[in-house]
Amino acid sequence: MSDRAPSCTHLKTIEITELPESVDGCEDCLREGGVWLHLRLCLECGHVGCCDDSPGRHATAHAAASSHHPLIRSLEPGEEWCWCFVDELGMLIPEITGVTRIPPSPMLS
Ligand SMILES: [Zn+2]
Ligand SMILES: [Zn+2]
Ligand SMILES: [Zn+2]
Repeated sequence: MSDRAPSCTHLKTIEITELPESVDGCEDCLREGGVWLHLRLCLECGHVGCCDDSPGRHATAHAAASSHHPLIRSLEPGEEWCWCFVDELGMLIPEITGVTRIPPSPMLS
């Protein structure tokens, strides 16, 4: 059984198929001194951004700023879903492997 969504045409743009071992947090929040709730990884360039429930919404901002980077993967423990901003479609991409160690959200501490 496959969870591939045939309506997302961006799967071939994925460059990151192995998740980083660990990340420090949302790149943009760390630079700007902001706080994040959940972390998302750009599957095109590896940019780490924060979710739409974070004040910065940097994952969405990254996808909007770089229109060729439509796909993200959740970096939250136990979450394996990906999201295409262009197709507004959630999916699982089993080719992406690895587990990323992330710091606790500064909003929750
Ligand atoms: Zn797509
Ligand atoms: Zn952020
Ligand atoms: Zn990117």
